[in-house]
Amino acid sequence: MRIFLMIALLFLVSCGDEGKVTISDADATQSDTDISDEDVQSEDRDVAEQDGDVVAGDSDMVHSDADSSVSDEDVQSEDRDVESGDADADVDAAEVPDEELIDCSIRPVSPTERLYPVVGEIFYQQIGLSGFSMGESALFVGPEGKVILIDAGNDSHDKVIASVIDDTVSHMNASGFPTKSTKEIDYAIITHMHADHSDGLQDLLEKLTITGKIIHRGFVDITNAAEDATVSQLCDTIQSNPGHEFALCEGPTRTGCSDWSSGFPSTGCNGLNAGDVSVDGDSGYTYIPLAGGSKVQIVAANGYIAGKSYEATNDPILTEDSNGENARSVAGVVEHGNFRLFFAGDLTGGGSSTDPVEQFYAGNIVFVSDAGSHGVDVLHAGHHGRDTSTSSLWLGALLRADGPSRNMVMGISAAHINSPHQETLTNTLANNRLAEGRIWTTTVSTGGATDPLLINANGGSILIRTAEQGKIYHIQAISDNGTIVETRSYYSAKGCEPSGH
Ligand SMILES: [Zn+2]
Repeated sequence: MRIFLMIALLFLVSCGDEGKVTISDADATQSDTDISDEDVQSEDRDVAEQDGDVVAGDSDMVHSDADSSVSDEDVQSEDRDVESGDADADVDAAEVPDEELIDCSIRPVSPTERLYPVVGEIFYQQIGLSGFSMGESALFVGPEGKVILIDAGNDSHDKVIASVIDDTVSHMNASGFPTKSTKEIDYAIITHMHADHSDGLQDLLEKLTITGKIIHRGFVDITNAAEDATVSQLCDTIQSNPGHEFALCEGPTRTGCSDWSSGFPSTGCNGLNAGDVSVDGDSGYTYIPLAGGSKVQIVAANGYIAGKSYEATNDPILTEDSNGENARSVAGVVEHGNFRLFFAGDLTGGGSSTDPVEQFYAGNIVFVSDAGSHGVDVLHAGHHGRDTSTSSLWLGALLRADGPSRNMVMGISAAHINSPHQETLTNTLANNRLAEGRIWTTTVSTGGATDPLLINANGGSILIRTAEQGKIYHIQAISDNGTIVETRSYYSAKGCEPSGH
């Protein structure tokens, strides 16, 4: 019964979002528009105009934002980062003299077979999730075979996710990885406490064992923006897997999960727990270590990035609207050689009157990741392609319009009605920022926008695999019966020589 209530609730939330979008899109007649609609409309226009300005000055804007908000201490740490970044580049150049900057206007040759993990490279699968409930989940495999789940879909999605893990690990076992149980994952990252990202974990971990940590934003700032039943369920799941919790923000000591079904505490986060998530009390950046210096770095959560708080420098994050929970999403970057993939759950960027947390992070990513200075190769679109996410400033920071091709991946399920939004596609494709790249989506749901540069797996999955230690990556859309829809290959942007547009 609870599942159906949840679906109904999510549908209402979804309808609420859509109402705002329709108003902003439509040339609504005055007679149809009451005062509050007009307010929303003009606010949307303001946001659009503001975004337009940002597009014009893209990367300059990002730098000036970062500069304007930094203290002396930050500048020092930025200098350190820049120095160490330079040092790395020098070391790379010294060790591999042949590895010079690449002319990336030519794309590498694409494989013809379906992509599976190979030893020494990373693999990512945005899993196609069908059915009546919204859900999103991605499977990530490290160069040595670590299996990491980023979100776990809804209650009804655990079977599909378990079968993807079984299929993937079976292929890994047959292709030179250290033998692994097909009933095992190493880490799970839950970006935020909404049913479509979190609820599937409980049933999944009744089928599979987790060897490492369940990483989540922390049981803090649990407001009406979170979903009560989902918070309780995640709490139960963690209690059933003792020793496997990594909360990015520490909350009060929990006495039990049933208490969480009413009156959640709204105590705040005091900054993110740091270091290697498998080592208690470690320091430095928060990350999951992978072989060969590759890692999944957690760069932000709960409004915190680089030791700075969104709420301390901006307004409090929404507490009543579900987008207030989206705004607290965990953000991370997968790093492997030159390759960078960025994910941030349903992080909000100001569209449809959400908190513009993307903008705050965009100005500060440079302090915690070179994604802030080079951009990324693949950006996971927030909130299933809705216009609450993927602001122009966010795009300007991560999908830079500076020559190299870049790609976007969207995790949309059929129940995410009206996804993706046209505005998201338009902003992403503006300024030729993707160059030869594409927007790849698991599906286009009823009412969702389409575009010739949008590649649709029609309910299937989007697969990504690097090659040559991250110098190259392949992206592929497969249908749910495994038929290849399209495969394209690219040089990772960090290794590309600067070029004109
Ligand atoms: Zn979602």
